[in-house]
This record gives sequence, structure tokens and C-alpha cells, in this order.
Amino acid sequence: MGLDITWAVDWVRRSAETVAEHRTRLIALDREIGDGDHGENLDRGFQAVLPKLDDLAAGSTPGDVLKLVATTLISTVGGAAGPLYGTAYLKGAMAAGSATSLDGPAIAAVLTAARDGIVARGKAESGDKTMVDAWTPAVEAADAEAASGADARTVLEAAASAAEAGAEATEPLVARKGRASYLGERSAGHRDPGAESSALLLRAAADAAVA
Ligand code: ADP
Ligand code: MG
Ligand code: MG
Repeated sequence: MGLDITWAVDWVRRSAETVAEHRTRLIALDREIGDGDHGENLDRGFQAVLPKLDDLAAGSTPGDVLKLVATTLISTVGGAAGPLYGTAYLKGAMAAGSATSLDGPAIAAVLTAARDGIVARGKAESGDKTMVDAWTPAVEAADAEAASGADARTVLEAAASAAEAGAEATEPLVARKGRASYLGERSAGHRDPGAESSALLLRAAADAAVA
């Protein structure tokens, strides 16, 4: 069964919840290799989306929800992650189009477009110790599941698990993009905060799909 507006709204609510819950941890991670604001910025952004969900017009689509998230994050998050996540949700919204329901391949296409948007905007490659290191394994896992005929829920579950593994795998890496790259070799031994928050958001998407 495809994922509809109810899923999309639930994804946003769960995203706000998990970011608030892990706010301190994201701040701590960003304090180690950045400036310590990642948890605060993202929490502010998702809290700003919540009241706007009530204003969605009847007949809104998952794409409309993703677009609402994009515009809100762009105007409230700031830093590196604001425009990167904003672009991800905007490109994801464009891939979702006006569909009222997203099946496995459609969800994989949304995730691919989101990842491609992050890469186009930030120019990071895999292994640069950024959120791309969560998104690219997620997209690969999602594509593989979708290609084998998996439903949307299974595609998201695979993406979330791959993103979590990808975030963990940033720990030994030396950062080559973003603020953490200023630390050079000293960035190794710490998990990238943006990869961690990306994994949280994808887990929220998977959890919303089974709810
Ligand atoms: P800032 O560094 O401006 O304070 P945040 O703390 O909100 O921004 O976000 C930092 C995160 O942004 C990093 O952990 C990393 O995942 C991500 N990031 C930074 N630069 C890039 C980039 N060029 N491409 C992809 N992701 C990036
Ligand atoms: Mg920061
Ligand atoms: Mg900052």
C-alpha cells in the first residue's frame, strides 16, 4: 500500500519529536567538531513546521507537506544544514509531484531526489564526513528494495537502517566539507552531527509508515 498525506504529516510530527528528543545529543556532536548549534537549529526548524500542518488545505498531498517543510526549514534553520535540508525537502517534494499516494519506487525516487539536492547544493562526496554519508547508503538501500518490488514501508525501513549505519561509519572519517573540515585530522573519532540527524529523520519516516 502506498503512503499518503497521513503518513507525510505523521513523518513531520515524528521528525519534530525525535529532533527535540535528541537535541542535546546533536548539540554535543556538533560541539565536538563544529560550533554546537546543530540540535538547536534543527529543533527550531521542526517546531516551526508543526503549527503550519494545521493550515494545510483539504486535498493536500505528500508533496505539499514536503514543500512546507522545505520553505520552513530554509527560513528558520540557518547554518549549513538549513539550506541543505531545505533543498532536500524541496527536491523531494518535486519528485513526489501531485501524487496522493507514494509506492515503493516513488518513495525511492523522493529519497534519491533529496540526496541529489544535498549533493548539488553542498558538493560533498561520499566519505567527506557529512550528511551525504547517511543519505547515499539510504538511497542505495531504498533503490535496491524498490527494484525488487518492496512496498513503500519496506523501502523506508531499509533506508533508515542504512542511514543509521552510514552515520555510525562517519566516526573514523576526516571531514573534508563544512565546519568540521577546519579541524583536519582532529575531526576523526567523532560522529558527524548532520549524518546523525539525517538518520533520525529517515527513521521517523519509517516509523510513520508502520504506524
Ligand atoms: P553549521 O556548520 O553552519 O553550524 P549545522 O551545525 O547546522 O551548520 O550543520 C552541520 C552539518 O551540516 C554537518 O554535520 C554536515 O553533516 C552538514 N554539512 C556541512 N557542510 C556540508 C556540505 N558541503 N555538504 C553536505 N553536508 C554538509
Ligand atoms: Mg553547527
Ligand atoms: Mg552554525
